[in-house]
Amino acid sequence: AKALGRNNYQFFDQGMNQAAARRFELESNLRGALLRSEFELHYQPIICTATRRLHALEVLLRWRRRSEGGAGGADANTVLVGPDEFIPILEENGMIVPVGEWVIRTACEQSMAWQRQGLPAVPLAINLSARQFMHDGLVESIRRIVGETGIDPALVEFEITETALMQHGGQTLDTLRQINDMGMRLSIDDFGTGYSSLAYLKRFPVRKIKIDRAFVRELEASSEDRAIVAAVMALANSLQLSVVAEGVETEGQYQLLGGQGCQLAQGYLFARPLPAGEAARLLRGSALQ
Ligand code: C2E
Ligand code: CA
Ligand code: CA
Ligand code: CA
Repeated sequence: AKALGRNNYQFFDQGMNQAAARRFELESNLRGALLRSEFELHYQPIICTATRRLHALEVLLRWRRRSEGGAGGADANTVLVGPDEFIPILEENGMIVPVGEWVIRTACEQSMAWQRQGLPAVPLAINLSARQFMHDGLVESIRRIVGETGIDPALVEFEITETALMQHGGQTLDTLRQINDMGMRLSIDDFGTGYSSLAYLKRFPVRKIKIDRAFVRELEASSEDRAIVAAVMALANSLQLSVVAEGVETEGQYQLLGGQGCQLAQGYLFARPLPAGEAARLLRGSALQ
């Protein structure tokens, strides 16, 4: 490093320090976020392609963070941070376990609150991260949440990526079975992007697969992507799995997917992830676009 000259070395060092400092700042802010009630849930419709009606809502975590340099106080400015920015940190430091538990509990409480308001009961699809899935206390904590909130387990689906399933090794089947035995459903998220061992589809009590956005994005232009979707549909049909297409943004994609027999879809074409209040309005009956 010395040979590069003093300035180069310092420049490099400073960049590293800045990245580390930013990361440290994000992480220490995240540590208190749960206690400060800065997390919130948004809900994105999953629709039936045939009827364009609501089938379920995917639960998506957001962090409402006090913005840097915000004035503070009751009306402090906030920014909504997306999960891609902070979930990796939570995964790394283990906070995904308590935060993930908060997500499950809050989603179940929200569902019960909606039902008490007389809104139709719609299944909620909740994401489970790899580390959360590997955590020994998961099944117990789900059981406790079901008992305490009184939610009908049939209204809860869990989404797990194939990579998370493969990491878990021997305990995977046990955990999945226990969740399944409680009456909750399981879907494979981001299907086709992870470490794919199709054999697990037969072994695991899975009901649904979600075709990753990567295969939907260029569906209209790419015959390869159309072939992949057709193959996934054929596989799913023969294993009696239902399929959700993610990231549907155009009418053309929607038509192609419907034509391929894909029963369920999710994406900006229908709705963005909505805060609880807007999701309630949607449940109250305003039609989807
Ligand atoms: P995911 O589970 O694949 O969720 C779908 C993501 O695609 C969401 O991003 C959603 O907002 C986005 N999306 C939906 N429709 C469209 C579309 O038409 N176009 C485009 N470009 N994007 C669309 P989001 O909310 O930023 O979440 C990102 C990821 O963070 C999720 O990917 C999931 O892996 C993770 N995540 C979100 N909430 C949770 C959570 O509560 N727990 C865990 N463990 N992970 C979560
Ligand atoms: Ca998901
Ligand atoms: Ca996904
Ligand atoms: Ca994804």
